[in-house]
Amino acid sequence: MVGLMRGINATAKKIADLMVLNSAIPPQGMSLEAWRAMGPITPSYEAMYVMVLEQLRSGYSVGANIALFDMDGSLADYDGAMLESLNALAGPDEEVLTRETLHEFLKKEELPHIKARLRSIKRSHGWWCRLKPIPAGMEVLKMATEIGFKPHILTKGPKRAAIAWKEKVEWCQHHIAEDIDIHITSDKGMVYGKVLYDDFPDYMLRWLKTRPRGLGIMPVTPSNRDFVHPNVIKWDETNLDEVRDALIAAFNRQAGDDWK
Ligand SMILES: [Mg+2]
Repeated sequence: MVGLMRGINATAKKIADLMVLNSAIPPQGMSLEAWRAMGPITPSYEAMYVMVLEQLRSGYSVGANIALFDMDGSLADYDGAMLESLNALAGPDEEVLTRETLHEFLKKEELPHIKARLRSIKRSHGWWCRLKPIPAGMEVLKMATEIGFKPHILTKGPKRAAIAWKEKVEWCQHHIAEDIDIHITSDKGMVYGKVLYDDFPDYMLRWLKTRPRGLGIMPVTPSNRDFVHPNVIKWDETNLDEVRDALIAAFNRQAGDDWK
């Protein structure tokens, strides 16, 4: 499978190179025949036509230096805001939650009264906009941008809280940049990048499954402390040089190469 993907990526890159060389990137609506007539495309490239065309139209180029950044727990302090909101709604006999105990508590999400509280919080107007930026995450975002990566936000949207989708966009535009690219998705494995910055092991593993040569950077939190993966650098705010070196290696790697 890895060999097959490498072959596909290499072929896609050849097509992209040909299209650039020939200035033959077809405009919207141009037929395959018309596009073929513009450059020396061989039949073996034909199967890749649709995929590459879509990628080029969407602004993606094969091997592009894109670094993906998760929001909640990575750039935006979801846990801090959730603790504050849950503690405000707790009864007098309930435990006061802390960052250490929050994730254990959230496993009770299926209990009706907990589910109702969480839904009410996540649907509150302005709640997502008010999340505080996490300085350690913003530092890595800035570093990746300075190295030359194009940062894209990659975040999961809660299916039953449409307001979150709108406010996540507003948060990024306010705290990062007006024109930042944002992907709100249910499946992070579907999105291309050379790097993923994400605090949640399950999403990191899902993304690495489709990007086996990708670099993962994971800010250490109470719930991911024990997570280990050969492609993932754990960022604990003491190893900035290690994070920088890995980002530079990932930036300089060619399609098909490993960053390590
Ligand atoms: Mg997260």
